[in-house]
Amino acid sequence: MADHDHEHEHDHDHDNDHESADGDVEREARRLVALSRVRQYGDGVLRMKAREVEIFDDDLERLIERMTTLMHEANGVGLAANQVGVLSRLFVFVDAGENRVLVNPVITKLSSDREIDDEGCLSLRDVLVPVERATRVTIEGFDASGERLELELELPSARVAQHELDHLDGVLIIDRTDDESRRAALAKLRPQPVLGAR
Ligand SMILES: [Zn+2]
Repeated sequence: MADHDHEHEHDHDHDNDHESADGDVEREARRLVALSRVRQYGDGVLRMKAREVEIFDDDLERLIERMTTLMHEANGVGLAANQVGVLSRLFVFVDAGENRVLVNPVITKLSSDREIDDEGCLSLRDVLVPVERATRVTIEGFDASGERLELELELPSARVAQHELDHLDGVLIIDRTDDESRRAALAKLRPQPVLGAR
């Protein structure tokens, strides 16, 4: 499966390097601004467990709208509240071209079928690691207005949803991958020394 099916930055930098059309330049600028609003690896909020949402009000709807816009501008297909610094159990994602939100999501069924595929994350830029996920999941939760919701998801949405639900528990893709991929990812995430500094 193509990795653009997961939540993550797709590295479109290379595609856009040589394009000069105003639309592309503007879109890339928007993507970078959006990414700067997504909490990055090292930020403690990504390691914290989010709390159940108890009040379904206008603030919640505004948060969901803001996250949905940010997800699209950052070229992602999923975004969890932790990633915008909000410790509430909700995430947005794209399922078969439709914007979706799940508030207080709980996985009620996981297939025993598993598949390993590369995943990226808007909070771990430039990292792509293999992660094993169930190929089908059933998730119960609520929509933005507090209506009960049950979604049966298959790949690629099943993978996205498991990834986003992990965020709500402070779990990242580097926790789910093999040792070698984790080491390589951590080396990338380490701040690079600046030549000539000191
Ligand atoms: Zn992520």
